[in-house]
Amino acid sequence: MARQRRPINQDLFSKGGIITERDPDFCIVRLRMPAGMITPAQMKEVGEIAARYGIENIHLTTRQTMEFPHVDPSRLEGLLGELEKNGTPLGAERQEVVNVTACLGTRNCKFGIIDSVGLAQEIDKRFFGKDLPVKVRIAISSCPNGCESERLNEIGITGIQRPIRDPGLCTGCGTCVHYCRENAIEVQDGIIVLHEPKCMECGFCIMPCPFHLIRGTPPEYRITVGGHRGRHPKMGRHLIDVKTPEEVINVVDKVIYWIYRQASMDSMLPEQLDDIGFDDFKKTITRMIHG
Ligand code: SF4
Ligand code: SF4
Ligand code: SF4
Repeated sequence: MARQRRPINQDLFSKGGIITERDPDFCIVRLRMPAGMITPAQMKEVGEIAARYGIENIHLTTRQTMEFPHVDPSRLEGLLGELEKNGTPLGAERQEVVNVTACLGTRNCKFGIIDSVGLAQEIDKRFFGKDLPVKVRIAISSCPNGCESERLNEIGITGIQRPIRDPGLCTGCGTCVHYCRENAIEVQDGIIVLHEPKCMECGFCIMPCPFHLIRGTPPEYRITVGGHRGRHPKMGRHLIDVKTPEEVINVVDKVIYWIYRQASMDSMLPEQLDDIGFDDFKKTITRMIHG
């Protein structure tokens, strides 16, 4: 016997975080959780909301958020209201800026160079859900270890720090050589030599020097554009390095504006950047940044 269809508010299906399920009588509801951060109280309430709406399992997504599978569309309005009130509102998954991801960075990770969580939350406030011709994923890793695979996102941000050596004072003990995973430092004639082309600017050699002889430049933000995962993974290409979170926001703003005005819906962003030539794209964005 045919299943009875429930009355539903079709307008809700124009919202990015509501996904039609395999069983078309149900939908999936994805949440907005920048940097994957949630308080214990919010987490508890998410569980209680899910239980009230008959959700049996909550799915953790690759983009550091949660989704409720098998939601009854006739109960969407109430569900979305409760999620909003909890500070875990409806997310995004269409041609728009979707959940911004970040590692814990300087808040908790000993390798952190930048406050990736704070930056993700700021980017979320400014750009989340903006309608665009293509989906834009933004990810932030606080150091070049790249735990967020940020270069596989349309916009990737990586914290970097360059070591500054003082050859006159070095004892040649080799501690920094041991800590460098890139073989970018060598001891030659009792002092260190830095091979800059090999250096990833991770700053890992700075802290371990027992004599505090390696200083670091102030943290910087490396921005890549045009990465993608999925069916045709592609690494993002280097756009620019900047020195402050405000400059990052400005660059992201220009890239998103360019996508809004110039990109098409017909292909993935990396392909479009290939078509116009990444160097030309880079020149255009650089001109926009410098006004
Ligand atoms: S990317 Fe670096 S700072 Fe972030 S979690 Fe990984 S190791 Fe830590
Ligand atoms: S910054 Fe990282 S890659 Fe560069 S020399 Fe130091 S440890 Fe090696
Ligand atoms: S750890 Fe410090 S003293 Fe030892 S080789 Fe490196 S820079 Fe020189």
